[in-house]
Amino acid sequence: MTNHCQHKDCGAVEKVWLPCEFEGRNRGLKSYPYCIHCGLVKNISPDRAKQKGYYMNALVKLPITKVQMRLIIKELENMDFDDTYSMTRSAQEKVLISVVQKHCKVSESSVRVYL
Ligand SMILES: [Zn+2]
Repeated sequence: MTNHCQHKDCGAVEKVWLPCEFEGRNRGLKSYPYCIHCGLVKNISPDRAKQKGYYMNALVKLPITKVQMRLIIKELENMDFDDTYSMTRSAQEKVLISVVQKHCKVSESSVRVYL
């Protein structure tokens, strides 16, 4: 997937009311902004996605080679990894760990130390 949407919030009036769930608990209805281009509803839960730079800083601390690092970054770039609309932080962590483990022998806990 390479056609990333440059998401743009709808206006405050057009926000949609949706049930909000966080950590398996219902937090009632919340008004969500959505993207006027692709219609994706923005993740506004406290489990907010982080920018790619945050995870890059974690990657450089891992005992991995430059080649492995490049493979990991390339794979992440082919996903909507830092799409703050569709991704949550916990989803990002899961994706990152699985991609890291695909390319290097690093345990999940040693990755999580830096997240
Ligand atoms: Zn969009």
